[in-house]
Amino acid sequence: MKREFAVIGLGRFGGSICKELSAEGMDVLAIDSDEDRVNEFKDIAAHAVIADTTDEKVLKELGMRNIDHVIVAIGEDIQASILTTLMLKELGVKKITVKAQNDYHEKVLIKIGADHVVHPERDMGKRIAHSIISTNILDYLELSDAHSIVEVKAGKKMHGKTLIDLDIRAKYGCNVVAIKNAYNKGINVSPEPNLKIDKGDILIVIGADKDISKFERILV
Ligand code: ADP
Repeated sequence: MKREFAVIGLGRFGGSICKELSAEGMDVLAIDSDEDRVNEFKDIAAHAVIADTTDEKVLKELGMRNIDHVIVAIGEDIQASILTTLMLKELGVKKITVKAQNDYHEKVLIKIGADHVVHPERDMGKRIAHSIISTNILDYLELSDAHSIVEVKAGKKMHGKTLIDLDIRAKYGCNVVAIKNAYNKGINVSPEPNLKIDKGDILIVIGADKDISKFERILV
């Protein structure tokens, strides 16, 4: 079923969400208070309108309460972002995702009932920092303040060994949930304990950050 989305704020972040959703065939209502921004999205989104979403009347006229999921991607103007989110909530919008500028903004958004708060610059910064620290960490996904999933490239120390040999769960407290094969690029999502690991294979590891760092220091 075609789902209806609205993206408020068509800067780099909101604009990119709008483009992706539209490319996936979703019905997107693109909104910005800036006419030039809206014009850029006329041929991309199903609908594109110029509107200031801090005006409750405008939100009602746009029929926001009938939209499945609204993404608030207003950048610098934190006050406008909070006010828009609050009014969308009051109108009864089912799902609201909001981009936060900083930690205080995030706290307020959660308090007023935003369903999902994203912090793209901070999160991408963390991911890149992790891949810079260790050249073998290819990607990183934060699950909580203290837990993550990382993609690790197997080096010499793991080559030719099995998960039993390495005893990762007992020794390092983390779990290998999948292995991407270095040669055929196939992914094994339930690696058998006796599967031999080759140098260059990519291990997807879940665990506490402190355990993952230990694993990374000793084995990678
Ligand atoms: P990014 O960091 O994602 O590039 P920007 O700050 O460039 O974010 O973009 C935010 C967008 O939100 C801008 O295009 C701006 O015109 C729009 N915007 C700001 N306030 C409002 C508002 N009250 N109603 C609608 N759009 C708004």
